[in-house]
Amino acid sequence: MTVLGFSGLLMMGLLAVGQQQKAAAPVAASATGAAKGISGPFSSRELAQFTALGPIDTHTHVYRSDPAFHALIKRLNLHILDIVVVDDQDPEQVSLEAESRSAWGFVRDSDGRAAFCSSFDPYKVADPGFAAAANRGLNRDFDQGAIAVKIWKNIGMEIKDANGNFILPDDPVFAPIYEDIAAHHKTLIAHVADPSSAWAPENPASPDYSYYKENPVWYMYNKPHPASKEQILAARDHVLEQNKDLRMVGAHLGSMEADFNQLARHLDRYPNFAVDLAARMPYLMLAPRDRIIAFILKYQDHLIYATDNEFAPKNQLQPKLAEWELTYARDWRFLATADAVDYQGRTVQGLALPGPVLRKIYHDNAVRWFPGIVPTAH
Ligand SMILES: [Zn+2]
Repeated sequence: MTVLGFSGLLMMGLLAVGQQQKAAAPVAASATGAAKGISGPFSSRELAQFTALGPIDTHTHVYRSDPAFHALIKRLNLHILDIVVVDDQDPEQVSLEAESRSAWGFVRDSDGRAAFCSSFDPYKVADPGFAAAANRGLNRDFDQGAIAVKIWKNIGMEIKDANGNFILPDDPVFAPIYEDIAAHHKTLIAHVADPSSAWAPENPASPDYSYYKENPVWYMYNKPHPASKEQILAARDHVLEQNKDLRMVGAHLGSMEADFNQLARHLDRYPNFAVDLAARMPYLMLAPRDRIIAFILKYQDHLIYATDNEFAPKNQLQPKLAEWELTYARDWRFLATADAVDYQGRTVQGLALPGPVLRKIYHDNAVRWFPGIVPTAH
């Protein structure tokens, strides 16, 4: 579900990253003599520090169980939330039933290291008895131990009502579902809307240009009567206001990745709202370092570590294993150390966040916002 290309962001010139390299700790020289940051898998020292936190990743999509994959999760001492979502563009995610079966299989094989995040099929929104049927499915998953429910950007950006209007997250048809999630004390993960470039004229320099070229269903600019990003986020906020007992975690920085002031206002305003960092680490990397450190320190109770890592039947095993570890290693260096971190050919200085803050972002906040994500007996 990642839509962000790092190089495109850099082309936008959001930040002169090079200015922040002065205090960077040990920087290896490349063959050409240019300063390079650290990249690659964890060193044994880094791995010891990472695993000591009891790291949790609250945003993954795993639809496949493999011993080598379970071994990786164990070696990294990870707990993960495995999220199902219905996507009519992806043959492996069209059927909620088949996808859920695979994900539950993985969760049951995980020795308590994976928890399940359920969903419902929003493409059935016009069916009679839609909400009751959705709740029956969710309650079946809750009975089996599911701890959360995901809604996705197809609500607001793809699915239309009988009049051809995009259905928004606060459509009354969803109200009984939100009430049921809150009544069961489960958490709602809301990935609604997308980066702003989805609503802007085509721009090859945009970080999302190739994503929308390949996935035109999510490109809103030329759509007749699209919902605006502001409208969709306002509908999401309306759900927060109407469901004060509902814990909501906004995926991908709550789709406010490009405006940390807007995100701060939301976190100030809604005590039942937190956000995950999934697939938006480059936005943190590109924001002015002092500012992003101050932001993280201020909102340290409402930011939850996550990646959007995926492991599906279509993936090759070994490259995926490597990709998962590289993601955790890169993010760890950036958040926890002052090292120069190499990311897709660029070098940024790590934030060196204090230990107690790292502990919240990597562990405590996930436990608080997703009760049950770590089994109590584990
Ligand atoms: Zn995702």
